[in-house]
Amino acid sequence: MKEFTREKKFKTRSVAGTLAIAATIAEILSAPRVVILRGELGAGKTTLVKGWLQALGAAEPEEVTSPTFTLVHEYKARKGRVYHLDLYRLESERELAALGLDEMAAEPGALLLIEWGEKFPSLLERADAEVAMAPLEGDERSLWVRWRD
Ligand code: ADP
Ligand code: MG
Repeated sequence: MKEFTREKKFKTRSVAGTLAIAATIAEILSAPRVVILRGELGAGKTTLVKGWLQALGAAEPEEVTSPTFTLVHEYKARKGRVYHLDLYRLESERELAALGLDEMAAEPGALLLIEWGEKFPSLLERADAEVAMAPLEGDERSLWVRWRD
C-alpha cells in the first residue's frame, strides 16, 4: 500500500466554511487525479465536492447533486473532466471494474472525486489523496487531507 507523505487538517463551522475550504483543498490537490472522500452519511462529502467544482469553474454549488443512484456525474473544468462518484450502493470489485475508472483516470487532466471509495481495496491502492470528513458539534466538521507529492 502506498503511503501518504503530506497532510493538512481543517475545521469548519458551516456549509459556507466547507465550500471555502474546498477551494483551498482544490489548490493543494491540483496534481492528484484520484481522490477518495471518506466520512459517514451527512459528513459533508458532497458539499465539499460542490465547493471543489465551483473552485475549478466546473459548476455552481446549486447545480451539483449527489450521484447516489447514477454513480457518476461528469463536469467539465479548464484542465479536463471532473468525475464525481458515489460508490455507496456499489457492492463488488466486479461492478467497480464495469464503471470504467481506468479510462476516466487516463484522460489528460482528469480528476476523480470518489465518495465511499474506501470500500474497495483496489481504489485505496491507487488513490493519490484522501479527504476524511467527520461531524463534530452541530454544523462543525473536521477535515483531514492526506496526499503524496
Ligand atoms: P455526504 O455527502 O457526506 O453524505 P452531504 O454533503 O450530502 O454529506 O450532506 C451534508 C449535510 O450536512 C448537508 O445537509 C449540509 O447542509 C449539512 N451541513 C451542516 N454543516 C455542514 C458543514 N460544516 N459542512 C458540510 N455540510 C454541512
Ligand atoms: Mg454524498
